[in-house]
Amino acid sequence: MEIKTIGIIGAGTMGNGIAQVAALAGYNVLMRDIEQKFVDKGMEAVRKSLGKAVEKGKMAQPDADAALGRIKGTMVLSDLKDCDFIIEAVIENAELKRKVYAELDKLCPAHTIFASNTSSISITELAAGTSRVDRFIGMHFMNPVPLMKLVEMIRGLGTSDETAKITKGMAEKMGKTVAEVTDYPGFVSNRVLMPMINEAIYCLMEGVGSRESIDTVMKLGMNHPMGPLELADLVGLDVVQYILEVMYAGFGDPKYRPCPLLKKMVKAGRLGRKTGIGFYEYPKK
Ligand code: NAD
Repeated sequence: MEIKTIGIIGAGTMGNGIAQVAALAGYNVLMRDIEQKFVDKGMEAVRKSLGKAVEKGKMAQPDADAALGRIKGTMVLSDLKDCDFIIEAVIENAELKRKVYAELDKLCPAHTIFASNTSSISITELAAGTSRVDRFIGMHFMNPVPLMKLVEMIRGLGTSDETAKITKGMAEKMGKTVAEVTDYPGFVSNRVLMPMINEAIYCLMEGVGSRESIDTVMKLGMNHPMGPLELADLVGLDVVQYILEVMYAGFGDPKYRPCPLLKKMVKAGRLGRKTGIGFYEYPKK
């Protein structure tokens, strides 16, 4: 099956990044969000990101313009009815995702493949709410999508070989490398990453180190490109908390319990870069 048009549900951090790499790979993209201001924000993020790539000489202006021209923003879900492949990137909430898939399942033709960019929610469970368990897969892009090479591809219990093959081919066309994993809470990426971030937050809460010393230890001592607290700010602290909760519920193991300081910051609305403050401050330029 040839994929021509990709639908993206959610124009946030991940949704607009996926829209950009899909458009650059030559796909037509329909990006849907629930309010016009979110659609506009997503489109603006793509415009900015492409502009930066042109400025740095990584891309020619006509290629950037052509990619932008292939993305259409919308608030109307039924605009996505003719998509061959849909990638959902709404917030990390199982109930909301199930609702979105139930709507899409009614709307889309039988051949349409559904992918979720979920960081931790069971692909098998999300697929079970649709009539297409064989055409349902996890396609976990990394943040920031245009720069990060990995797509963690998660096969649910019913995912067909054909769906996995199409998804892998599409990710490769977007310039990504696919690592295939099976469906357990947090998959591989977040199962390993989130306990590290959580532990770094405990270190901060307990005064073991300042934010700078914790991040410096991991950057210079472990050769990580970013410290765990900087990375948490980039991912979004609400997303970090949610993923930890999914793993805590899924395994019943206290090692995944979100740190109280993380929960306090989320309650305060200090979600990281997207709100201008998290473990660090991000003044508006
Ligand atoms: P975000 O909050 O930046 O964006 C989510 C967007 O979804 C918002 O614009 C919101 O308005 C929109 N939305 C909510 N309900 C919707 C609906 N019914 N239809 C269409 N749009 C709707 O979140 P994000 O960081 O982009 O995360 C999205 C998904 O990607 C989550 O599942 C998250 O776990 C996963 N993910 C996030 C990261 C990361 O670093 N942020 C990395 C990998 C995967």
